[in-house]
Amino acid sequence: MLKVIEFVHDIINKKINKEDICVDMTIGNGHDTLFLCKLSKFVYGFDIQEKAINNTTNLLNLNNFTNFQLFLKSHEFVDQLINIKVKCFIYNLGYLPTGNKSITTNATSTIISLKKALELLDDKGIIAFVVYPGHESGKIEANELEIFVNSLNQKEYDVIKYQFVNQINNPPYALIIERR
Ligand code: SAM
Repeated sequence: MLKVIEFVHDIINKKINKEDICVDMTIGNGHDTLFLCKLSKFVYGFDIQEKAINNTTNLLNLNNFTNFQLFLKSHEFVDQLINIKVKCFIYNLGYLPTGNKSITTNATSTIISLKKALELLDDKGIIAFVVYPGHESGKIEANELEIFVNSLNQKEYDVIKYQFVNQINNPPYALIIERR
């Protein structure tokens, strides 16, 4: 069985090619940004922490990638900085594992940014989330996010959830939206 992040990467890998534009909405230490830079034409990235911008820039430089632009901004401003169609958005919610655990994504800005991402999403494009309901604000965020994605029109979007239902303590899971 694929781990949650492996499942997300596997789906993205099957959908994205070197013509495509991607956005990493929560760059953190840059592992997902690096993955997207390898697959696609260009990657935009967002994070609210300077540490995340520095760590990701270093990782991408180390791997000789130049097809990226990173913004020290909340992802809820995505519409002000990107005005082209995007094939894939990825969100890895929560906090930086090696950082300040009080700096975390939250339901309000995540859903504001998701509404904007849906506007920018190309035909057959996908928006992938790794969701962490195992901490207090993560649980609220997970609940609100699920209410929102459950309400998306099934004629316009397919939405799936990938979750290990027998794991204890609210394990992380994936939500993936595809524009039909
Ligand atoms: N994808 C990352 C990686 O591969 O290392 C891990 C991301 S980490 C779980 C979550 C990140 O979201 C943190 O770096 C945090 O600073 C960032 N974040 C929190 N709120 C944000 C917001 N409103 N906009 C953009 N990034 C945000």
